Amino acid sequence: RQTPQAPPAAAPPTPAPPSPPPIIALRQVSKTYKNGAPALIDINLKLKKGSFLFITGPSGAGKSTLLKLLYGQERPTAGEVHINGQEISLLKGDQLAMLRRRLGIIFQDYKLIPRRTVAENVAFVLHAQGYSRKEIDRRLPLTIKMVGLQGKEDRFPSQLSGGEQQRASIARAVVGTPPLLLADEPTGNLDEDNARQVFNILRRLNDIGITVVVTTHNELMVRSLNYPVIQIRDHRLHHIR
Ligand code: ADP
Repeated sequence: RQTPQAPPAAAPPTPAPPSPPPIIALRQVSKTYKNGAPALIDINLKLKKGSFLFITGPSGAGKSTLLKLLYGQERPTAGEVHINGQEISLLKGDQLAMLRRRLGIIFQDYKLIPRRTVAENVAFVLHAQGYSRKEIDRRLPLTIKMVGLQGKEDRFPSQLSGGEQQRASIARAVVGTPPLLLADEPTGNLDEDNARQVFNILRRLNDIGITVVVTTHNELMVRSLNYPVIQIRDHRLHHIR
């Protein structure tokens, strides 16, 4: 007689692959500046890699402060700021500098170096990151072309229009293929036509996988581009779309 055999054990369920950490996670973040004015109150936000996010809201609400927390220019008074799974308020000077170098950042006033040409402004970042001459020579023309500044590589910022300066600053921000691009009111000084060009470039960058976060007052662009929108109002975050 055969002894009854135990039925074969069911195969253990295959674990779901671990989901990647959100590229941005803010947990109960508040920021109060030294003079006592609250800039942000209890902000919770998660953003997946590859997203495009608009941040809107009235002046003084805290939008710039939120971006500054993301690139480590300011530290939260309370709460945690994670970029790619890394808690950035724990980073020391060097580590923070390294993180910042890996992010692309664009400002309303471009912040190009006046005494350097477009090509030099853009290449500078790659030098600082230790790219080889050969790699710089490969990346530079591609990036300049992507922002439509071919033929203007040797101009100084003062020889460019506002829209062109902003496009040069975008080239500088993305030439090192950052995972995350932060843009603080990038079209604040531009007319509609130039603003549209800038947003088209941001869209294309998002299409190739770069996560883009933009603060803006440009209602027209927010309405015409169907991306998620959050609003900072009274220093608190409201989900809009
Ligand atoms: P937004 O970008 O929405 O216009 P900000 O983030 O620049 O708003 O500012 C939010 C609040 O924090 C405002 O009340 C502003 O005056 C204040 N604030 C911003 N930066 C500083 C600073 N460095 N020192 C003190 N208060 C500041």
